[in-house]
Amino acid sequence: MFDMSESTSIEPRACGVYSTAHLLGWGVDHSRLRRLVDDGQLIRLRQGWYAETAADPAVVAAVRGGGVLSCLSALRMYKIWVPPTDAVHIRRSTHRRPRLGVSCHGFGAQPRLSDPVDSVLVAFGGAARCLAGGARRDCELLVAIADSILNGTVLTSADLRGAVAAAPPRIRRLLDLCDGTAQAGTESLTRIRLRSLNIVVRTQVVIPGVGRVDLLVGERLIIECDSRAHHTAATNYQEDRRRDRAALAAGYLVLRVTYADVMYRWEEVLADILKLIRRHDHRSTKHAR
Ligand SMILES: [Zn+2]
Repeated sequence: MFDMSESTSIEPRACGVYSTAHLLGWGVDHSRLRRLVDDGQLIRLRQGWYAETAADPAVVAAVRGGGVLSCLSALRMYKIWVPPTDAVHIRRSTHRRPRLGVSCHGFGAQPRLSDPVDSVLVAFGGAARCLAGGARRDCELLVAIADSILNGTVLTSADLRGAVAAAPPRIRRLLDLCDGTAQAGTESLTRIRLRSLNIVVRTQVVIPGVGRVDLLVGERLIIECDSRAHHTAATNYQEDRRRDRAALAAGYLVLRVTYADVMYRWEEVLADILKLIRRHDHRSTKHAR
């Protein structure tokens, strides 16, 4: 419906949900608004908010639920990597009681609920609290989201630091772990988990004859992290196999991990990586260039 590449905020027109203030600003007065509702061209979601019939369902749900789309649900609209979530993440004004979805808002003073979808930075602030604040401490997921924002938008590390300026130091320090070169959430998670075990991992290393590989452990162990989106096309399938062959011929080991490997069976994958490392297979340079 709209091109989100590099956008960091979404116009109400792009998602088909409007406040009365937006409509009045565009010259739609109250009597015309009533006619649009009577004719079925606009649907009243709650007091002061309206939607077109073809409006984005997640945005409609958030506004019906008493707030605006935020946190993981908003970030997903910007094509930022987010972990799987079934809930609609909604930022509400503090006095409203949740009726559906998950209530999310960042640390410190929050902007007014003026647009139906929060900006990337406001949504990131919400995700920081939702994922890494309180009892939940899914810190690696927040770092993966930050990587994806740095890689996919014009926003900088300084922008992200500003968005969590009021967060506890433990959460602000997570941004030191970010790497905006990561090409997929699975790559971010693999890097973060291996480094947390003090395993030396280099990212986006260029290997002659092979090209840029996602991760290189030691001098020899290549880890390619396949995202669901980028490794299914026939041309990628062919190219991935050519790269694997060239890497093996040059003396490297190639380990390919899928989205499901990283999200749902990491222990198994890690056990195999650790076996290779214990055998010093990642260190051997006699065959590698
Ligand atoms: Zn949330």
